[in-house]
Amino acid sequence: MNMVTSPTMTAAQFRDAILRHLTYALGKDPEHAQVQDWRMALSLAVRDQIVDSWFAATRKSYAEQAKRVYYLSMEFLIGRLLEDGIVNLRLVDQARGALEELGQDYDTVLADEPDAALGNGGLGRLAACFLESLSTLGCPAYGYGLRYEHGLFRQSFKDGRQIEAPETWLLQQHAWEFERPEARFRLGFGGTVDVKGETATWSPAEFVEAEAYDTPIVGWKGRWANTLRLWSAKAVDPFDLDSFNRGDFAGAAEPEALARTISRVLYPDDTTGPGKELRLKQEYFLTASALRDILRRFDSEYDDLGLLPSKVAIQLNDTHPAIAGPELVRLLLDERGMGFEDAMATAQACLSYTNHTLLPEALESWGEDLFGKLLPRHLQIVDRIDDAHAKANPSRKVSARADGQVKMGELSFIMAHKVNGVSALHSGLMTTTVFEELHRLHPDRILNQTNGVTPRRWLLSCNPRLSSLITDTIGSGWVDDLEQLKGLESHVDDAEWLARYAAAKHDNKAELAAWMAETQGVTVDPAMMFDVQIKRLHEYKRQHLNILEAIAHWQEIKANPDVGWTPRVKIFAGKAAPGYFFAKDIIRLINDVSEVINADEETRHLLQVVFLPNYNVTLAERLIPAADLSEQISTAGKEASGTGNMKFALNGALTVGTLDGANVEIREQVGSENFFLFGMTADEVDARRAIDGHAAKAIANDTRLKSALEAIETGLFSPDEPTRYANIVENLTGPDYFLVTTDFTDYWRAQREVDSAYGDQDAWMRMAALNTARSGWFSSDRTIRGYMGDIWNARSLLED
Ligand SMILES: *Cc1c(COP(=O)(O)O)cnc(C)c1O
Repeated sequence: MNMVTSPTMTAAQFRDAILRHLTYALGKDPEHAQVQDWRMALSLAVRDQIVDSWFAATRKSYAEQAKRVYYLSMEFLIGRLLEDGIVNLRLVDQARGALEELGQDYDTVLADEPDAALGNGGLGRLAACFLESLSTLGCPAYGYGLRYEHGLFRQSFKDGRQIEAPETWLLQQHAWEFERPEARFRLGFGGTVDVKGETATWSPAEFVEAEAYDTPIVGWKGRWANTLRLWSAKAVDPFDLDSFNRGDFAGAAEPEALARTISRVLYPDDTTGPGKELRLKQEYFLTASALRDILRRFDSEYDDLGLLPSKVAIQLNDTHPAIAGPELVRLLLDERGMGFEDAMATAQACLSYTNHTLLPEALESWGEDLFGKLLPRHLQIVDRIDDAHAKANPSRKVSARADGQVKMGELSFIMAHKVNGVSALHSGLMTTTVFEELHRLHPDRILNQTNGVTPRRWLLSCNPRLSSLITDTIGSGWVDDLEQLKGLESHVDDAEWLARYAAAKHDNKAELAAWMAETQGVTVDPAMMFDVQIKRLHEYKRQHLNILEAIAHWQEIKANPDVGWTPRVKIFAGKAAPGYFFAKDIIRLINDVSEVINADEETRHLLQVVFLPNYNVTLAERLIPAADLSEQISTAGKEASGTGNMKFALNGALTVGTLDGANVEIREQVGSENFFLFGMTADEVDARRAIDGHAAKAIANDTRLKSALEAIETGLFSPDEPTRYANIVENLTGPDYFLVTTDFTDYWRAQREVDSAYGDQDAWMRMAALNTARSGWFSSDRTIRGYMGDIWNARSLLED
């Protein structure tokens, strides 16, 4: 029947499976197999186990006629999948043993897997955590995304500058996906529309085919697996034989090359609309393929479209798939014969939208000319949506199409039955800023679902030392019931237990230090405080506040070398969008500062700065367990939630942070005495910005800040080019929109508080342990339960 059970396997069975795959699936003689071959063979052996629960889950979903959740996202930052699979199947010991018998090192084989970097940052990583939690919870679901040939670029540094190279994760065979040549849809762009009364016939000018690739995503204990379905663009006629026969070989290959462009690159910018036709094509390509697939599956089970909202929940991860509103209306109206009002109501009942940003420049909009050129029928439907919305809400002042633009935020809001923010603060601000007017019309639509992270990847798998201490202490139930971490609280005053907690942290730090020495040529002492800021480079995230403080700190150490400074290494990692020159300047500045400070014999035992290249999920997994201090220092009101902040707290790093995004809730959960707060609140930010010369005033009031800025301005860190950072200095002394200078003084104060707190290691470790014990609420299982209950009306098919 459709029993969903956990797979089991012995090391010997595992070994045989690996050998079988190596020999017969990969055609490699074990005598000559390389690491990559062992990794592939191991992956296929693990995949077999996942496939069994995957099929069982699919059968059960059909058998129960369950509602399915469809998570549409332009990004899935899934990282490596092999360890995730092994850990979730609880086959770590067997896999290790099997490889050992085969003369292979488990960690080396795992480390060979490339990161699937199909996302920019937090938004894409959230989608990946959600898929894993949906599977852990046994909620039938599909993730829909694009199979980018090149994920986010690979970052390296040359003379401190960011260098971007294409990511080539698909150069090696990808073990996890199943190509589905039979699951293809033909999609159109452009052309003409023939309107006949209510409905219309759209005759696109250009077509492209979408082909599906499926990756099973397995949940905890392997009890359930859902599908990540990624679309790849193919030409309708892959090859132009006429051109070829004429000897025009390049021309013959052109249709294929053009079509493939759509799924070739991930836009390496998550905060500003690149305004490119290709981006809009990508968004439509993803969304239209997903909707066709959803309706095809629905049709295979039901013949009454009225049932759609009770069987289908479609979540829009940000506005990127917002074209789902008009496209679903179009499919129902023009192709399925539903009336417009019913089509709109049906679409609204299926759709919901997650907002991820209040930055106005990051809210997508498209010029109506471009939009109408690519999607002429959709532009008409947007107008009808606006008309219907206006009729139902005569007092309304907003519409999706306005000022020559199609506004994807407004469109998403109008076409969704629920709109959620991603932290309590952010959801509250949505009602008074970006969606103030729409919220007045629809006061029940906005709700909050604070983000979370999967404890399987972000604690169990990335931090085995801490995980085993936790399991020794409270048992293993925490892995899918993270609130059980509360059970650790009663141990934090037990000196022996706390020493074990401290030992786990210390060993993680020693391991990171060894890795940095080996791969980066940087020597740091694990006894130093590991102060970590890892995230996308952005002015609102304020890496430049951090480096300014580092400069001031260094100057102060030099001025007063003997006051008992707390030794600290500041670790940065993060990529800047290739066209975001200010952010790239910040990277270079940090690298330049690092070179000068790290070379200073007088201070290097007290302060070092390291910028690690190519931040990705794997690097995050390496750094977070070893962090003492988590830098979450965004300008209040600008970070929607953050999820990095949660990973750090869970792994026992203390936060120095502003009252922004989910920091607010982290501080509430872990206790204000276990959190280093500084800076203005979101309420104070606008008033401060309105003060004439606010930056000059802040600088005049803080001699440390003044002298740090002078050091940059006079070329202390760029002696061969003293004006290199004129842009940064001008910004900070002038408009300083993100209020770096205003918050500097309080940030300095908080950092010195951090220094003295770290000086008392017992008290520090107690605070760290309390952060772990009280972070259970930040599990993405909790978040997904919230979506299931409040937004999707979906249920788990796992019996407990
Ligand atoms: C968690 C994570 C993020 C999000 O970090 P924030 O600090 O919340 O911006 C970005 N990138 C990677 C690789 C992550 O793992």
